[in-house]
Amino acid sequence: MTAAGAGAGDRGNLPSTPGGQALSAPLLGRAEEPTLFEHSSPGRKAWSFRTTGIPELPREELVPSDHRRTAPVPVAEVSERDLVAHFTRLSHRQFSVDLGAYPLGSCTMKYNPKVCDAVAALPGLAGVHPAAPASLTQGWLRLLVDLEAALCEITGMAAATLQPAAGAAGELTGLLLMRAWHEARGDARHKVIIPDSAHGTNPASVTLGGYEVVTVPSDERGCVDMAALAGVLDEDVAGIMLTNPNTLGLFEEDIAAIAASVHRVGGLLYYDGANLNAILGLVRPGDMGFDIVHMNLHKTFATPHGGGGPGAGPVAVSERLVPFLPGPRPVRVGGGTDDPPVYGWSTPERSIGRMHSWHGNALVLARALAYLTLHGRDGLRSVAEIAVLNANWIRQRLSGTYDIPFDRPCMHEVVVSARNLRQPNGVRALDVAKRLLDKGFHSPTVYFPLIVEEALMIEPTETESPQTLEALASAFEAIAYEATSLPADTLTDAPHHTPVRRVDEARAARTLIPTFDARP
Ligand SMILES: *Cc1c(COP(=O)(O)O)cnc(C)c1O
Repeated sequence: MTAAGAGAGDRGNLPSTPGGQALSAPLLGRAEEPTLFEHSSPGRKAWSFRTTGIPELPREELVPSDHRRTAPVPVAEVSERDLVAHFTRLSHRQFSVDLGAYPLGSCTMKYNPKVCDAVAALPGLAGVHPAAPASLTQGWLRLLVDLEAALCEITGMAAATLQPAAGAAGELTGLLLMRAWHEARGDARHKVIIPDSAHGTNPASVTLGGYEVVTVPSDERGCVDMAALAGVLDEDVAGIMLTNPNTLGLFEEDIAAIAASVHRVGGLLYYDGANLNAILGLVRPGDMGFDIVHMNLHKTFATPHGGGGPGAGPVAVSERLVPFLPGPRPVRVGGGTDDPPVYGWSTPERSIGRMHSWHGNALVLARALAYLTLHGRDGLRSVAEIAVLNANWIRQRLSGTYDIPFDRPCMHEVVVSARNLRQPNGVRALDVAKRLLDKGFHSPTVYFPLIVEEALMIEPTETESPQTLEALASAFEAIAYEATSLPADTLTDAPHHTPVRRVDEARAARTLIPTFDARP
């Protein structure tokens, strides 16, 4: 694809280099990039092996004839230099958390300190075989036990499993724990309550866990409608799954009353803690009466995410659910006050079984402990405080330009509506999001939560500076101005300056070989 009409001088708000100059177009990878096969030249290679002195055996002796290739492997033949340049250029055609602000609500796309990657890459961590016996992996086991303790302290829970591979896997784990607990009491139940402001994975997990979803609406404050909740609570309710802060970015004001009323009918309380970034070190789900909490380490604790992972969605539980946790779990098995601790594995007596092989996504767990250690208690609290401050700064700043349906103090993200931009040009939230790419920012989440018309869900995160927030807010304001004052296609055709312009989103997600219009 060519440099889609990026006129000189029409640079939007492209991110600047530290020296203050805007990145040049070739650096942003707008030029055509051939495939690796087009770079290929016979005989070039990107590897060299030392000769070992071990005599080479003829391949006829090593591989039976019916398994041997008859034609050469069809791979591109390129030098290391060309290979690195190719992938570096491709990486520059993409937006990333390392390049600029990424206010994708609900996803907590914050900048991840590189030191956490460095820790995870230590040979003593990265090079260990998962099947190595406990006697040889005491350091790894200690890391996992320490991480579990830290997550329990942060959430106010008794114990945690580190196995689940992501938030949704944590949700399923939590629901299986809920089911196991009820069934162990001879009280199989069938329904799980979910507010309509919950994250979309919640109802999916409930269905996968074998329960029926009962939805309760939000009231005019954007919180759980307490009267509606009272109307659906009965002895067939296994529990409630509460996303808090909810997907409107609001703290559930009646959380204590919700907890009490669900416990009253014998239900359990599940806390979707994927938005933990908002409450770190400030409040704890355990203290609010919750029984199960999942966390998204890849959102809150420094693992880069997107593109399918890997992530980690540990689930922390209250005392009464500990015997059901997935196993085997890394635990301290010995050592005394004077002797060093000894670590091993143990499976809880009524375990629901494994949710992941081996140690879970271990290197994600290592990054999380590095991040926790790096910040410490006070640092974590300021993560949440600044995340909340930044979201409220954006809310306040945009309140004159965009509709804000629930305009009261929010937590780590704010949901604004683009419905006021529809006249006169038919501009929609999607157009605003696409145009933001031209201005050097990633798009916010759009059309979610479903209960807000033309929703733009903005999560600035704590890692953005006041200057970046100012630039982001200015970009939103400029777009609102363009929506009413410039020709419609300024927005409805955006983005204009990215390597790939507007695609048919449904088709792009289903057709892996791109067939979209290149629009030279
Ligand atoms: C991201 C998110 C999830 C799902 O987490 P995944 O790791 O993507 O499976 C669940 N709930 C909330 C509130 C989230 O923001």
